[in-house]
Amino acid sequence: MKLMISSKALYSTWMYYSPDRMLIDCGEGASTYLGNKSFAVKRVFITHGHADHIAGLWGLVNTRNNAMGDKEKELEIYYPKGGRSVEEFINFIIKVNSNLKYNLKIKALAVGEEVILHRTGAAQRVIRPFKTHHTISEESFGYNIYEKRKRLKPEYRNLEQGEILNFIKKLGRDAVTVEYEHKILTVSGDALPISVEDAFETDLLIHESTFLNENDRRGNNHSSIKEVLKLAKLAHAKTVILYHISTRYERNIRRLVSKAIKEVEIEIPVMYVHPSKIFTLN
Ligand SMILES: [Zn+2]
Ligand SMILES: [Zn+2]
Repeated sequence: MKLMISSKALYSTWMYYSPDRMLIDCGEGASTYLGNKSFAVKRVFITHGHADHIAGLWGLVNTRNNAMGDKEKELEIYYPKGGRSVEEFINFIIKVNSNLKYNLKIKALAVGEEVILHRTGAAQRVIRPFKTHHTISEESFGYNIYEKRKRLKPEYRNLEQGEILNFIKKLGRDAVTVEYEHKILTVSGDALPISVEDAFETDLLIHESTFLNENDRRGNNHSSIKEVLKLAKLAHAKTVILYHISTRYERNIRRLVSKAIKEVEIEIPVMYVHPSKIFTLN
């Protein structure tokens, strides 16, 4: 299991990305559902301070302190700088858990600030937040995970294998290659459609789609399915997962999603997180 998502608009949203042992958001029930996997979580990245995205933090911090499991492991929580509700809630959690047996690291992130998730040799995986538009009262972020990879510089790309190897021998690998970033995962958080640039050429776009019917759209805080699919098309995303779907569509999600796919004429795989089921992706 690479990805596990639970998301019911207004109630609770969290997702666990196992390659980097991280949670994005921590709505109510996250640690209850994760059980022993709670101990595997190394980092939590919060998109914004609404209760349906942070209410499970207390449970997570507490479970890791009391349940059977490795209590030495540090837990890191990152949240948008200026996010008042998250700050207040984390302060409360720290206050009532003064006897934490492990190190709890809290850090406010600024837009574009990078956190290294994984490093093996020259390869690196990092996460960077970007600004989104949700509510005025609460700072909100989406997150991009990038893999930093290396490829041949353009002048070496059309050469034969043997010639390339000779150049590498002569000049060293660093001289013939150039580093580039590949977006492997993009998460919107609660928001209006994110920018094409932030989603551009991502392998997996996980975007909120509170409204599956354009006519139900109220206010300017959430996205509708058609907006998300149009964005995915423009951004050349390779796969889309719709989440944060309102429970009002529970009985006809499949029909509404198929309808939107046809209308927008999108050809990439589109999946969705049913509001009352746990979604998994291998
Ligand atoms: Zn929400
Ligand atoms: Zn929200």
